[in-house]
Amino acid sequence: MNYNKKTVRDVDVAGKKVLLRCDFNVPQDKDTGAITSDKRIVAALPTIQYLLDQGAAVIACSHLGKPAATFESYAKKQAEKGKEATEEGWKKSLQKLSLAPVAQRLSELLGKPVIMAADVVGPDAQAKAAALQPGQILLLENTRFEKGETKNDPALARAMASMAELYVSDAFGAVHRAHASTAGVAEYLPAVSGFLIQKELEVLGGAISNPKRPLVAILGGSKVSSKIGVINNLLEIADSIIIGGGMAYTFAAAQGGKVGESLLEADWMDYSREMIEKAAAKGVKLLLPVDTVCADAFAPDAKSQVVKAGEIPDGWQGLDIGPETVKLYCSAVADAGTVIWNGPMGVFEFPAFAKGTEAVAEALSKTDAITIIGGGDSAAAVEQLGYADKMTHISTGGGASLEFLEGKELPGVACLLDK
Ligand code: ADP
Ligand code: MG
Repeated sequence: MNYNKKTVRDVDVAGKKVLLRCDFNVPQDKDTGAITSDKRIVAALPTIQYLLDQGAAVIACSHLGKPAATFESYAKKQAEKGKEATEEGWKKSLQKLSLAPVAQRLSELLGKPVIMAADVVGPDAQAKAAALQPGQILLLENTRFEKGETKNDPALARAMASMAELYVSDAFGAVHRAHASTAGVAEYLPAVSGFLIQKELEVLGGAISNPKRPLVAILGGSKVSSKIGVINNLLEIADSIIIGGGMAYTFAAAQGGKVGESLLEADWMDYSREMIEKAAAKGVKLLLPVDTVCADAFAPDAKSQVVKAGEIPDGWQGLDIGPETVKLYCSAVADAGTVIWNGPMGVFEFPAFAKGTEAVAEALSKTDAITIIGGGDSAAAVEQLGYADKMTHISTGGGASLEFLEGKELPGVACLLDK
């Protein structure tokens, strides 16, 4: 895949109407719907501000959550929960996923009004987009209120595109989806990236296509099965691969080790063995834990002990890498040129089992290597442990960064103009 894409700086935006796809999929309070973190809105500001400063009229759009775009799909979801569906209940469910609170927060952050449209491509959006002046910003309603959005319906894409003269994508968190607002619109408009996607392509793309070596990949998290594509692809490009987290127990079991009650995917043991062989054949150093912190229950206050890897007693489960493994892994990143980290080393949500993840985060904060964090939970772990500003790059897209590391073509990137 070509990661060298045109950006907002490569085109003339002055006086143009620009359709800007943002990632305003913000976390919300379950009951009140209030925005609980405005991080994604703040992250979108540089591109928005640049476009406004350059004299563009910005038509911003985003999805939020998973609304039922039709009454039928709402009724189906309700039926699955054994509940009855009413028209009123459906409207309320949509109301909760309106982007109006985002418009308000965005307006506070920008220090200027944000005009809110009542629909995506309906009469209100059309009229407000037509009247929009350079330096003004309009926010369309939740793109997933349109049933054509997730189907990448060309009619919807064309309707969105018809309001603008240029498409700018800055929603890295959504580039792995071929939806109308993330890829479809690029069929009808010249398409370039904003600053967020530009940085993701530079750093992640650079690490994958032309890394500063040695390239060390640290992989963890819960399951081998969710990381198959990542392991496969990184085996082709990395110099070393370090395995931690829950997936390490499937590798341990595959080598005949005892893993007690640890997370185990028996179906993936053969695959794990193959990966060990493949790494050896390719000359990729594959590091597996040598010891583990195991617990007598999956609980924050469980009793714990350190045992050798593959020697976990019955009734116990591995929840973190052990101290010897920490030493081994930290020294492996010390002289790396690039480190890509995806997946926590243990159940970091429980402080008693966060030591391995914390030690790796600390080691990354001290190395001179380019350090890249991909994956939603890994990013959360690094932030929670206070190492966020010590990393070269924390990817803003959880699922998207995983598919990036898998080497997959991302529809929302592929649709942008090459440089
Ligand atoms: P990411 O979102 O960064 O790709 P994953 O979703 O694959 O990461 O995995 C994150 C989860 O893995 C965390 O919630 C963490 O608690 C869990 N995890 C890590 N180690 C273990 C383990 N030994 N046993 C069970 N769960 C684990
Ligand atoms: Mg995750």
